[in-house]
Amino acid sequence: MTAPLTGRCMCGAITVTMVPAKPEIHACHCGMCRRWTGSAFLEIDATPGTLKAEGPVRVFKSSDWAERASCAECGSPLWYRLSDPKADFHAVSAGLFDDTGFPLTKEIYVDRKPGGFAYAGDHLRMTEAEFLASIGVSAEGENQ
Ligand SMILES: [Zn+2]
Ligand SMILES: [Zn+2]
Repeated sequence: MTAPLTGRCMCGAITVTMVPAKPEIHACHCGMCRRWTGSAFLEIDATPGTLKAEGPVRVFKSSDWAERASCAECGSPLWYRLSDPKADFHAVSAGLFDDTGFPLTKEIYVDRKPGGFAYAGDHLRMTEAEFLASIGVSAEGENQ
């Protein structure tokens, strides 16, 4: 099992602990993540049931199936969560933690990425259509 991580938001009002599902960082370039973070959302998936947070967490329902948590004091993004409790899926902002050394292993929505920057390295890159097909969702009118 990967060792637990402890991190915090920019202002320090929120402390987050979780056990990574895998020692990996993933990036999402969808339009919502871009607006939320200013670039791509770099995240580490939490092992189900291990995410704990102390402090003023603010939750925003960003779609019919997901919500995004941030610090109510400083606005730092904390995590993306699937609303379905059975999913128990949290993608936790990698930026909350000091350098984990985890490699970037996957980018999704690469076709939505602004052309002016790119992450280096040889790893999985999926377009919006490829990603949605991988989770069994039609690409028609869907967004995160
Ligand atoms: Zn904060
Ligand atoms: Zn996204």
